[in-house]
Parts: sequence; structure tokens; C-alpha cells
Amino acid sequence: MKQYDVVVVGGGLIGLATAREVLKRQPDLRLALLEKEPEIARHQSGHNSGVIHTGIYYTPGSMKAKACVAGHREMLAFCDERGIQYDLCGKVIVALDESELPRLQNLYERGTANGVQGLEMIGQERLRELEPYAAGIKAIHSPNTGIIDYGQVTCAYADDIRENGGEIITNCKVTGLVEHGNTTTLVTTIGDIDAEFVITCGGLHSDRIANMSGGESDGVQIVPFRGDYYVLRPEKRHMCKSLIYPVPDPEFPFLGVHFTKTMRGEVWAGPNAVLAFAREGYGRWQVNPRDLGAALTFGGFWKMARQYWRTGMAEMYRDYSKGAYLTELRRYMPALRGDDLLPGPSGVRAQALSPDGKLVDDFLIKHGERVAHVRNAPSPGATSSMVIARMIVDTVEQKLAV
Ligand SMILES: Cc1cc2nc3c(=O)[nH]c(=O)nc-3n(C[C@H](O)[C@H](O)[C@H](O)COP(=O)(O)OP(=O)(O)OC[C@H]3O[C@@H](n4cnc5c(N)ncnc54)[C@H](O)[C@@H]3O)c2cc1C
Repeated sequence: MKQYDVVVVGGGLIGLATAREVLKRQPDLRLALLEKEPEIARHQSGHNSGVIHTGIYYTPGSMKAKACVAGHREMLAFCDERGIQYDLCGKVIVALDESELPRLQNLYERGTANGVQGLEMIGQERLRELEPYAAGIKAIHSPNTGIIDYGQVTCAYADDIRENGGEIITNCKVTGLVEHGNTTTLVTTIGDIDAEFVITCGGLHSDRIANMSGGESDGVQIVPFRGDYYVLRPEKRHMCKSLIYPVPDPEFPFLGVHFTKTMRGEVWAGPNAVLAFAREGYGRWQVNPRDLGAALTFGGFWKMARQYWRTGMAEMYRDYSKGAYLTELRRYMPALRGDDLLPGPSGVRAQALSPDGKLVDDFLIKHGERVAHVRNAPSPGATSSMVIARMIVDTVEQKLAV
């Protein structure tokens, strides 16, 4: 049986960053990272908007706020060091009418309280200079928001792990965790593996993996929310110079459909947020009976549905009707036409939901004696990945010492 000091489960940005951080501090540890897919970053880390967020949206003092503000800084420094390209193209968050101004002002104050640099409240004239095709009467301009290809970041994290002696084992699905004394046996599809310490970063399956280790459970469950993007026809890319975002609904953890320039020069419009019928269901018609059953038999799901049914139905309708999606997008870019939009990629967000129906807003990490589980790492998890990793390793470092 293979034996390691530390095993990290999950080869997304959080798992990779955590394994990297462990080895950066203690290169003598025997570490393996287990990933069920043939390659790393096949799920959220390979299906996101590619934005380096600055930390405007998050409740001051929350893990998200701290990790995003520091994560933005560290991501840029890491990319500079490793020659990974990014573009600080900036972003505008636009208020469409008077009714959105108080929320825009709150957002500005929040961002400022979080220590986000360079935020500016701008009027229509400046907005037209920055984004000639955007609607809006007032906006927040965030000049330091950037874009990146997170795929390159995952490869750089993986290189660091291997260079420091860590192993990345793909095609290895963890199906059980058995704790005995100072050791945990990971039951996997390639055989049992023993570890002194286990850190799980399972994204869309984080609740299932955490539940494998038994013990106290807070009942939090992952509900998958799919987001589909449209891509602007190449001749229409000039309509979006950087990133155009709405003022988000404060009751909802998602930012609302927006326009995002990508490192490949494309412009994506989306993502919306609809309940996915499969945790890894990137297509509208993909159904996994186990995943759907888990959502529908979870009391928290129905409590959430009662609260958000109106928003949920509208999102579903837009998902199936391109015309309705276009109507939403045209609120922010009135000159947009249906034939400007081509079908684009999709992503599925792992959103933790508590038994009382509340969408868990902040990052959530649970620690056991010889195990740590990342239970919720939604956006801006990519931006914040190195800081989340540091937070995890700060807590467990004493227990890892060789
Ligand atoms: C549509 C979308 C847009 C987003 N946009 C942004 C953005 O612009 N900026 C930003 O900062 N963040 C963004 N995010 C959030 C960001 O992508 C996530 O926070 C981050 O990728 C989470 O990384 P992770 O490692 O936790 O999860 P994942 O990347 O999902 O990785 C989890 C890994 O665990 C593996 N795994 C699961 N179960 C097992 C098992 N039993 N055994 C072995 N391996 C297992 C999976 O295969 C997977 O590779 C976005 C997310 C989505 C979905």
C-alpha cells in the first residue's frame, strides 16, 4: 500500500494551490494529490470566466473579502514571476436607472472598505469613453480588475508540486476515507492509500468527500448551478472593451450575466445561473439521477426554492430561450442583436447550501483532527486560490511537521 505524509484530494485550483503551499513550507513531506479525472482542472477551474477579481463585492471582514484582495495582489505577482500573461483591462459595474444607485453606492463603499485600490464612481460621459456600447447612468470603474487564462495558472501550480517532489496521480477517484489512529486510509479506484493527513478540495463533490470521513457534519450540501455563456461574433467584439457587469442582487451569491473579454480576444456574455441536473452536467439536457435526487431530497433545497423561485424561474426561462437571454443582455448593451451571439461554453458552480436553505456566501473550511475539508470555494476562488491555500496550511501546519 502506498503511504504519504499528506494527501490532497482534488486537482482544481484550490487543491493544487494547497499541495503547492504544503511543499513550499515543508519540501521533505511525502505528498500526493489525487484527481479522479485523466487531467487536472477539468471542472470549475477549467470552466470559469477567467477574471482576476479585486474584492469589491464581499462583506468586509469575510474570508472572501480578505482572500480576494490579497489574492488579486498575489496572483499578479505570481504571474509576473512565472511569465503568465494577464491583462488588467478594468471593469465597469453599471447602474441602469435611479433605483440601482443606492446599491451601486453600497458596493462602492464595500469595495473601499475592503481596501480595493483605484475604485472610482463615474458618470455617463466617462462610461461612454470606457465602454461606448454600455447602457447605464452611473458606474463604478475598477481599473485593476483583470483577465487571465487560469489553465496556465493550474499548470504552474502543478509544476511547482512536482519540482518539490510531490506526486500528482490522475485517474484516481477517492471513494472512502477510513480514519484509524494517526493514519487515514483513502479507498480509491487504484487501491488503498495511507496518509498521515488528508486535505480535501473536491469542488462539486466536496460535501460527499467530507461526509466520507464521518464525524460531525453541519449538513451543508453542494447544489450545482450551471452557467451558460454566449460568445460575441468576432466582428462584434469591439462592442465590449473590457468587462461590463450589472449591479448584483444582494440576496443572490452570483454576479448576474456580464460581458467578459477573454485572453484569446473573445467576448463572452454570461453566465446565467440555473440548477444543474448533474453536478458535472455542462449540457442543458444532462441528468444524473443521483445528483438530481440528492438536490430534490434535501430540505435546504426546498427552503431555498421557496425564497428564490421567482429568480430561479426567470433564469430557467432565459436558459431555454435565446430571445429572453438577449433581452437581459440588451439591458446592458442595447445595440446587441440576436445574431451577434454564438453559443459558448458552460461552467457548473459548486454552491454550498445549508439545511435552512441559505446559500453559504463565504468560503468554508472544516478541520478535523487529521483532516481538513474545503466545503465551499465559489467565485472568487480562482483569484483567491493561493490565499485560501495559505489559510488552510496555516491551520494544519503544526500537525504536518515531520
Ligand atoms: C462558471 C464559473 C465562473 C467562474 N468565474 C470565476 C472568475 O472569473 N474568477 C474567479 O476568481 N473565480 C471564478 N469562479 C470560481 C472558481 O473557478 C472556483 O472557485 C475554483 O475553480 C474552485 O476550485 P476547486 O479546486 O475548489 O474546484 P474544482 O476546480 O472543481 O476542482 C475540484 C477537483 O476535485 C476533483 N474531485 C472531485 N471528487 C473527487 C474524488 N472523489 N476523488 C478525486 N478527485 C475528485 C474534481 O474532478 C476536480 O478536478 C468561477 C466558477 C464558475 C463555475
